[in-house]
Amino acid sequence: MRVAVFFERDGVLNLMPSSQRQQPTPLTLAEFHLNPAAEEPLRELKAAGYVLLATTNQPGLSRGYQSRRELDLMHRNLCGRFGLDEVLVCPHDEMDECPCRKPKAGLLIEAAFKWHLDLDRCFVISDKWQDAHAAHVAGCTSLLIKSPWNGSGHRDFVVPDLAGAARKALNLHPQMLCPASC
Ligand SMILES: [Zn+2]
Repeated sequence: MRVAVFFERDGVLNLMPSSQRQQPTPLTLAEFHLNPAAEEPLRELKAAGYVLLATTNQPGLSRGYQSRRELDLMHRNLCGRFGLDEVLVCPHDEMDECPCRKPKAGLLIEAAFKWHLDLDRCFVISDKWQDAHAAHVAGCTSLLIKSPWNGSGHRDFVVPDLAGAARKALNLHPQMLCPASC
């Protein structure tokens, strides 16, 4: 089985325009600015053998204000620049009560089937409590980057930034190279 690091998209892999509590999600490629500080940590994690996956709630797809085409362009950019293997999207509205909208763990479970992951050995890196909650439910280790959105629920580690999160993951499981049998 393989191991992965899951990343929250907004505010971790792409920059958010403000530090206000209600952050507007970028809706177009022009508004979508990649976080240059993500490049090196993701390169190191990839070199250590991790599958790199991003997860994101995009209710604008159901509500009609996010175009699928723009979203695909943004995610193509994201994967190309950072070597991400896939961006997993929950397109639903809160009222749909789907199993994949974070803080639910559906996207992690779906990825585990698709990528043959051992979730107990996977990490979730985010600045938001919703991802730490989903990680806890799925059995992953959560690394929460310190932010106003950390909440007070379960998390395994709090780290100062993305580079610190990657270091922590590599320190906990330094050699994740896939054996020939997997
Ligand atoms: Zn969903």
